[in-house]
Formats: sequence, structure tokens, C-alpha cells
Amino acid sequence: IKTISELFKTLALKPAAPDKLQFKPDVKLLDRMSLFQGDITKLDVDAIVNAANRSLLGGGGVDGAIHAAAGPKLLDECRGLNGCLTGESKITKGYRLPARHVIHTVGPVYSRHNVEECAQQLASCYRTSLELAVENAVRHIAFPSISTGIYSYPIEDATRIALNTARTYLESESGGKLERVIFVVWSNKDKGVYEKLIPEYFPDK
Ligand code: ADP
Repeated sequence: IKTISELFKTLALKPAAPDKLQFKPDVKLLDRMSLFQGDITKLDVDAIVNAANRSLLGGGGVDGAIHAAAGPKLLDECRGLNGCLTGESKITKGYRLPARHVIHTVGPVYSRHNVEECAQQLASCYRTSLELAVENAVRHIAFPSISTGIYSYPIEDATRIALNTARTYLESESGGKLERVIFVVWSNKDKGVYEKLIPEYFPDK
């Protein structure tokens, strides 16, 4: 189980090329995000996000791993939620997980014919999860790479949406109640994409 202090280790990131910078450098914001490679179900944080489907009754990928680790009471609570629309999020307890809460969000199934709507729905997943986190006094929230597995969202596009939405939200949430957003990647390839793009959205100088 990863403790918060292990997750707080500073990232060793290369600076972004100056022509790529859209955001002002802000070391305080950089200090409120982390990248972690590994199993999200092992994280001892206030909330982990589940890349769920609209039924909220479990599935494959990270959804299956979260339900397996949390135990059957998670499914019992999910049965009472009546599903969830794409782009929206619902919160439950974490049961046997080290995480106190699970925020279930439903990402879009990627379609090349509907790129704009997919992008809006994916951004909405991150935004509504962050809003639920703050409403529930969550200080640390860990996101998997929503929609980029079975739902086949291109990883680079999805990562830009994740980083942009988190950056924008953290800036607006200046009360600082949400202390840290942790992006969890599973594969080396996804880790490389996040490492490449983080300096564009969270520049340090
Ligand atoms: P979706 O249906 O939204 O595409 P998936 O669960 O198929 O969701 O995949 C989302 C991402 O979660 C993928 O990058 C996948 O590799 C990753 N993933 C799968 N299992 C875990 C896990 N235990 N911890 C963290 N990430 C995971």
C-alpha cells in the first residue's frame, strides 16, 4: 500500500519547450499533482476514481480490479445508485480498499465520428469527479486513465484532457481543500505520455 508521503515525491520532469507553454508556471500547482505507475486499488488515499460503465455494476479493466479489491459490499451499494450517465460521476464508500471512497465516473466510448462530444464527456468525467471530491472533503484523489482502455480513447488526447481539466480545477479551487490530484498509469507507454505532457500543463518555470 502506497502511503501519501511516498506519492509526494517530487516528479523529475523535463521542462516544456517555451513555444508549447499555454499555462503560467506555478510551482504551488505542480506541488498539488503526482504521477504514479501501478495498481490504483493499492493506494491509501481519500478517494480513487473508477472508470465505470453506465450500469455501475462492474466490468473489466480497472473497474473489475476495484470491485475485486473492495469486495461485494461495493456492488451492493452500486446497485442502489441506478446507474450513471456518460460524463457524470457518483460516490460510494471504499469498503475493503485502502481508499475511503470510490468515485465512479463513466467515460465515453471513443468514436472518431464524434470527437468533440467525446472530449466534452471525458472532461466532464474529470470535472464532476473533482467536484464530488471537494463536496465530500476528499483531500487526495487518484485517477486512472479514463476511457483509454476498453473504451479506446487515444492516450495522448485523453491525457491532455485529464491534465487540462485538473489544472483548471485546481486553479479555481484556491481554497486548497483538495490537496492533491494523483494520475495513475498502468503501462510504460502511458507513463511516457504523461511525463511528456505534464510540463505543458504544469510548467515549473
Ligand atoms: P475504460 O473502459 O474507461 O477504457 P479500462 O479499465 O479498460 O477503462 O482502462 C482504463 C485504464 O486503466 C487503462 O489505461 C488500463 O491500463 C488502466 N488500468 C487497468 N487496471 C488498472 C489498475 N488496477 N490500476 C490502475 N490502472 C489500471
